[in-house]
Amino acid sequence: MYPATFEYHTPGSVNEAVSLLDRYKDEAKLLAGGHSLIPIMKLRLAQPKHLIDLRKIQGLSGIREAGGAIVIGALTTHWMVESSDLLKQTLPILPEAAGQIGDMQVRNMGTIGGSLAHADPAADLPAVILALGAELKAMGPKGERTTKAEDFFVDLLTTALQPNEVLTEIRIPLPLPKTGGAYEKYPHPASRYAVVGVAALLTVDRRDTVQSASIGITGIGSKATRARAAEQYLIGKAPDNDALKTAAERATEGISIRADLQGSAEYKAHLAKVYTRRALTRALERARAA
Ligand SMILES: Cc1cc2nc3c(=O)[nH]c(=O)nc-3n(C[C@H](O)[C@H](O)[C@H](O)COP(=O)(O)OP(=O)(O)OC[C@H]3O[C@@H](n4cnc5c(N)ncnc54)[C@H](O)[C@@H]3O)c2cc1C
Repeated sequence: MYPATFEYHTPGSVNEAVSLLDRYKDEAKLLAGGHSLIPIMKLRLAQPKHLIDLRKIQGLSGIREAGGAIVIGALTTHWMVESSDLLKQTLPILPEAAGQIGDMQVRNMGTIGGSLAHADPAADLPAVILALGAELKAMGPKGERTTKAEDFFVDLLTTALQPNEVLTEIRIPLPLPKTGGAYEKYPHPASRYAVVGVAALLTVDRRDTVQSASIGITGIGSKATRARAAEQYLIGKAPDNDALKTAAERATEGISIRADLQGSAEYKAHLAKVYTRRALTRALERARAA
């Protein structure tokens, strides 16, 4: 299958990409790793007349520590996230999740910014970014702005990004001491996308009481979402088996679950609870050991 014809642009800077987006408006699409966009173009579900390739822009890729946060450039590939020593030391949940995306070819090409901007309801990284309380920086014609992860995912394949904005970086606060995180996923056997994926982050104090809990779930609704009821239940509790079990039972409270080709709403709710329990159990082990 071949995409419809388009004009190909290779801007050398973010500002240049933004002006191209602003000039061609609905007729333009940004290209990062191409592993979501190109298949859609080949199916002719998207037929941009102008394709703006971000990959020649210097400085959009890389992982660094700055000002109490980890900063990841939007063009950083899944493989770079998966193999980063800095992330393994500071935010191991992120390499753990990135390593479960698709296969090696997908991880070599796909980017964190492309995954978040595309906002596939079965993508892995949105759940992790939500649990980590990240902020996403975008550049548009009026300059830079920052959006909290919880405000970024709006609906199915829809984010808070404006059509003339480029997502430039993801900023994740460094976790508090005695924090542990884990990502648990039930992958689709063919694509490896998440039928359900749960990212859990727990912080405990010296007396083993939960100080903070943060849970992101993907695959069950039109967008990745926080499991607020489960989080709130855990805070201030001693995280014994009963507490984790009850929290997992509350994982889907208040979330609108969508049946899809992978399963009914009941099946997805069941998986979400099972995978929340697993993610919480491993996150707790890591928090206690931290
Ligand atoms: C076989 C296969 C298996 C896969 N399995 C998984 C999986 O298991 N889990 C998973 O999460 N994903 C999976 N994916 C998707 C993969 O992770 C993609 O790489 C990712 O969703 C999109 O990233 P990309 O860099 O390829 O973006 P592209 O395809 O280049 O772009 C996707 C969309 O985001 C926009 N965009 C890209 N970058 C920016 C930016 N910086 N600012 C604003 N908009 C931008 C583009 O305009 C486009 O609309 C799979 C894909 C394939 C082909």
